[in-house]
Amino acid sequence: CGIVGYIGQNDVKEILLTGLEKLEYRGYDSAGIAVYNENEGVCIFKDQGRIAHLRSIVEDVPSTMGIGHTRWATHGEPNHVNSHPHQSANKRFTLVHNGVIENEDELREKYFDGFNFVSETDTELVVELFDQFFNQDDGDIEIAIRQLIKVLHGSYALGIIDHENPDVLYAIKNKSPLLIGKGDGFNMIGSDSLAMLKQTNTFYEIDDLEYVKITRDNIEIFEMTGVKVKRDPFVTKIDA
Ligand code: GLU
Repeated sequence: CGIVGYIGQNDVKEILLTGLEKLEYRGYDSAGIAVYNENEGVCIFKDQGRIAHLRSIVEDVPSTMGIGHTRWATHGEPNHVNSHPHQSANKRFTLVHNGVIENEDELREKYFDGFNFVSETDTELVVELFDQFFNQDDGDIEIAIRQLIKVLHGSYALGIIDHENPDVLYAIKNKSPLLIGKGDGFNMIGSDSLAMLKQTNTFYEIDDLEYVKITRDNIEIFEMTGVKVKRDPFVTKIDA
């Protein structure tokens, strides 16, 4: 299981699919991608099965930003509905998640009394919670991210798309692997450098409880307090 994401100049679908293939060794039962298109908004293609199957259901939507996921089911059986990406009911946020939320029951009880979830995953809870915090905080996405980090217990590498601001990709990490790939006119996120090596060999490590704001030509890393982190990238020599 793992995540990959890209924001840049080139068509994102093949970049995500190739990246996901490189994560196949981590094991998975389902896979999916979400891509942003100016006319169509965020389009999600996902299903149980292999990347080859995902490849066959992905439609030809032009896009230069998106996120992808291979799932190893922990909450809810492997099927179409439980596959990632997951979207908030109002369709504002789309998210991929690698990991396990440990205080899921507590969070459901506290924030979602009577709410009708579509899937059985802990991930859908995360995207709805994020949307709830976002609306409470007058639409400040970074404050919502910090609040999310405060209440979530467990492991997560999250890639998030805000439909209203498709020039930014957000990522958050705790106890699940996450690297940021730095490119020329593009940037990436991934669970493993292997998923990004075809595009770049320059990476930033992300520590637990940090979040990242990524655009086509900028990467900003923050502590959960909102303080900006200064970090040098490292370069790998392995070929893709
Ligand atoms: N806990 C999430 C789920 O069951 C993510 C699992 C994963 O890391 O693939 O959908």
